[in-house]
Order: sequence, then C-alpha cells, then structure tokens
Amino acid sequence: MNTQALLHLKTYFGYDSFRPGQTQIIENVLESKDTLVIMPTGGGKSLCYQIPALCLDGTTLVISPLISLMKDQVDMLTNSGIPAAFINSSLSFDEVQDVLYAVRSGKIKLLYIAPERLENERFCMELSQIKVPLLAIDEAHCISQWGHDFRPSYRTIQGLANLWEQKPTVIALTATATEEVSADIQQLLSIDKENTFITGFARENLAFSVLLGENKEAYVKQYVKANSNEAGIIYAATRKSVEAVYEMLSRAGVAVAKYHGGMFEEDRTYEQNRFLNDEVQVMVATNAFGMGINKTNVRYVLHYNMPRNMESYYQEAGRAGRDGLESECILLYASSDEQTQRFLIDQAQDRSRIPLELEKLHKMIDYCHTERCLQSYIIDYFSDPTSSNCGKCGNCTDDRPQQDVTTDAQKVLSCIVRMGQKFGKQLTASVLAGSRSKKVTDFNFHKLPTYGILKTMNAKEIANFIEFLIAEKLIIVHNGQFPTLAISDLGKDVLLGKHAVLRKQARIIKAQVDTND
Ligand code: ADP
Repeated sequence: MNTQALLHLKTYFGYDSFRPGQTQIIENVLESKDTLVIMPTGGGKSLCYQIPALCLDGTTLVISPLISLMKDQVDMLTNSGIPAAFINSSLSFDEVQDVLYAVRSGKIKLLYIAPERLENERFCMELSQIKVPLLAIDEAHCISQWGHDFRPSYRTIQGLANLWEQKPTVIALTATATEEVSADIQQLLSIDKENTFITGFARENLAFSVLLGENKEAYVKQYVKANSNEAGIIYAATRKSVEAVYEMLSRAGVAVAKYHGGMFEEDRTYEQNRFLNDEVQVMVATNAFGMGINKTNVRYVLHYNMPRNMESYYQEAGRAGRDGLESECILLYASSDEQTQRFLIDQAQDRSRIPLELEKLHKMIDYCHTERCLQSYIIDYFSDPTSSNCGKCGNCTDDRPQQDVTTDAQKVLSCIVRMGQKFGKQLTASVLAGSRSKKVTDFNFHKLPTYGILKTMNAKEIANFIEFLIAEKLIIVHNGQFPTLAISDLGKDVLLGKHAVLRKQARIIKAQVDTND
C-alpha cells in the first residue's frame, strides 16, 4: 500500500489500517483510473476520496447533493486539520468569492459543491482555472434514472472532467448497488467494469429478523423497555404513525425523541440533538431522519412498518452498529404495510417510475417472507449471489422443523391458473378460503374446483402463504394497474410434482401482551 496514504490515514484520521476494499480503491484512484465504488452506508466511502485528495497535488472537487452533509464533512475535515470548504446555496455571493479565492491560492485540498452549481457557465469557467486532480461524485446513483433518487442536475456531471485540459480522475460513490444502477453509472461516466468495486455489504455485527403477525405496539414497548440502556431508532412509514408510536412510548414512561418532515426545522434539530447527545435513548422517525447522522452506538433499529424498498431498508437498518458491536435490526411486518407503500408509490409525480418502484417493493415484500438467511438475501440483492449464511439472523436461528407443503402450494398454483392468472393476492386468497364475497361470486369463482380447497386456513394466512410462494419464486407478480399473480416455470414444476416445497412450521403467534403495562 502507498505509504503516504497510510501515513495520512494515521495522521489526520487516527486510524491504523484501511478497511477491506478501501486499499484497492485508493490504489486504483492513485493510478489515475476512473473508479466506481459501491459500498453501504457506514462502509467508509469518504476516505476513498479524502485520502487520495491528500496525496494528490491540487484541489479535489467533491460533488454532493446534500447541503447539511457537506457542512458536516467540511467541519469534520477542518477539525482534523485538512483544509476544506464548500460552495452551495447557503453561501452569499461574497462568501463564494472568498472560497474561490482560497481555492485559487492553493489553500484548499477538498472543495465540496452542489450539483446545481454546474448549471452555471460562469461558475464552470471559474472551476476550469483550478488545478483539479480528482473529481469525486458522492451519491452517484442520483445520476441514474433507475436509482431511487434521480436528480436532473446530476446529469451536468457527465463530461464534466473535460472542463480541464488535464483531465482529472473520477471517483463515483454510492450505496445503491442494483445492477441497473451500477451499469447506468458506468455508462454515463464511462467507468470500466473492472474499475467498479462492490464491497463491504455484509455487516457481520447486525442480526436481522422479520416478525410477521406481531402485536406491534406491545412488541415495541416491551422491546424498548428491555433495552432501556441502549440507543435505538424506530422507523415508521408515515408522520402519523411516528406520532402514534411516540405517544405510545411516552405514555409508557419511555424518554423518547421524534423526527419527521411535518415538524418545524428547529423542533427537528432539537429532537435530533437530544438523541445524538444521549439525552434520550430512543428516536422515533420517518425516513427523513438519519442522512449524515454519525451516531455510532445505535444498538437496534426497529422498523414499525415495512419500507418501500431494500435500498431504503438497508440504509436505515445499517444505522445500527456503526461501531462494529453486535446490534439488532428487526422489521415488524403487517400486510397493511404493503397497501401503505403502494399508496405512497402511486402518489409519485413521475408516473414512468411506478413499475420500477413496484418491482422494488416486491423484493422488499419477498424479504419479509423468505425463509432464507436474511443477511445473504440482502447481499444477493445488492451484489454477490454466492454469499453464505450469517448464522445469526431470525431465519438462521429459527429451528422450527420444515414441513412439506407441496400439496397446499399446488392448490394455490392451480387456483391461480384457473382464475386465468389475471387476479391479485387478496382475491385468490378469498377464493381458496371459500369466501362468499361479492367479488368472488361476480366472477363466478365459487364454481371453480379450487374454490374453498384451503378452507383450513383463513384468507390472511393464505395471503401470507402466497407471499411465501412469491418469495420462493413459484409465483410471479405482474404490475399492471393492479398487481396480478402468475405462475413461474418453477411453479409449473411444482404443479407437475417435479419439485417439492418445504416451509417452516407455522409460528405460534404470541398471546397479545396487555398494551397498558
Ligand atoms: P459512508 O460515507 O460510506 O456512509 P463514512 O465514510 O461516513 O461512510 O464512514 C463511516 C464511519 O467509518 C466513519 O465514522 C469513518 O470515520 C469510519 N471509518 C472509515 N474508514 C475507516 C477505517 N479504515 N478505519 C476505521 N474507521 C473507519
């Protein structure tokens, strides 16, 4: 490893060694190769450009979309003795001129700018006068339409390197690692596949679990009380449910903070600081909370509702255990979460994104129903389809015996076929349960031979079983105006008796705890 890089790591950041991946990435950048880094939140992306910035002559330009993050980073760097500055809309014209002056006189090693700035030609002219050895593009998924946070201003980054006669090396960084997004970034920024590093997705100190059919209120109350000395975050899907969980915990005597987009900014900052300064141990929040928060001792992240996709889930859950100590990530699933997310997706301004968002939602629902190792499900989703079992998640430690449920699976599959593969989960479950609902009779489904053949289960249990079969890839969901079920090739094999289906014995749902305790 470049000894200068190691020296900078120790001198400025106080660390003795690089994390796996960081070494190769930094070497690659120092060899002037344009590089794409895909690393989860908390993985240590910043050092991948900050260390080269210190090794290289000139000012490294960092494009970053979040104003608050920029300020935090610059404060952190200046406190460590690294000259850094930022330019964004929070600065006045004169302040911008001062920063540019300092940059031109060679005093600044890292300059953070918001992408919108690049739309200004005069500003680009100014930039072209600066010696820029490295261009770092943070949150690089914002450049891709397939990402979950596309920003049109990011498109101005394409070709930006050509602004300088001496073309700077480009390093793009993101925590979003679906194949479409990384292929898109590679193509838009002309980065070779061999210079793409996907690293650090396994978070060995996190134990994941999903709880289905739990009394959420009682569970959260009991969990928070049992872990009263530990810091934790509870994510809920809507402002309303944040308020409800906050009230519920406050009434139970738990000191708790809250954070969501509907609060005044000063209240949000106040609540955030109470949590960051350990005045309260529990934060209840929507996904508005967490960006740029570097609290390392969060011992658990509970999801009161299922998030909209795996990217969001892993980013939020990944805020647990940043100090490397054992931590828990628990998702409390209810089928109503799916409706909430569908509703939210349907509100999207950009209609063209809806199919993609729905597909991502289905992967999230699959996560909640799979019986595979949850850690390896996540890693497969993001990067490596050959990951091994973690041994500590809810599924790895679940020792319930498996049952052969092939016959029940065949009943479901054959019902889907008989309904013409044109209907959704709820109606299929109603038909299998033998419901007399108007919709069932309107379509004459009560006359199907598969009507009522799973009567031993109720419609909700059947819907869960269908989700399990989707997660097992026997059923495919097509997203049209409404999601409809069809059977996959593997599903056909099950129908033909060529493939057996095994499922863990049904969980005994815990008796509901008295919610007034
Ligand atoms: P990301 O940008 O990927 O979310 P950060 O760059 O903010 O992650 O790093 C997350 C945390 O890990 C920070 O507190 C950082 O100081 C720490 N970190 C990064 N690299 C190392 C390392 N080599 N050794 C120890 N800690 C590290």
